[in-house]
Amino acid sequence: MNESCREVLAELDVFLDGECGDDLEEAVRRHLGECPPCVDRADFQRELRALIASKCKDAAPSGLLDRVIDNLTAR
Ligand SMILES: [Zn+2]
Repeated sequence: MNESCREVLAELDVFLDGECGDDLEEAVRRHLGECPPCVDRADFQRELRALIASKCKDAAPSGLLDRVIDNLTAR
């Protein structure tokens, strides 16, 4: 994982929430266009969010998703 991957992954949460600015969104999209491993990570996190949102809406302890993502990106 190189430095630009680290930066993209650090912003992935905000990017997936659609809450990042245009500049950041553009930068993330550009990186995903040339970095398949980050596409996999983004897809996985997007699916994970959808899964948690649909299955564990009220049951998931707060912070669970954050901890899961921390584990995934700590490699
Ligand atoms: Zn990357």
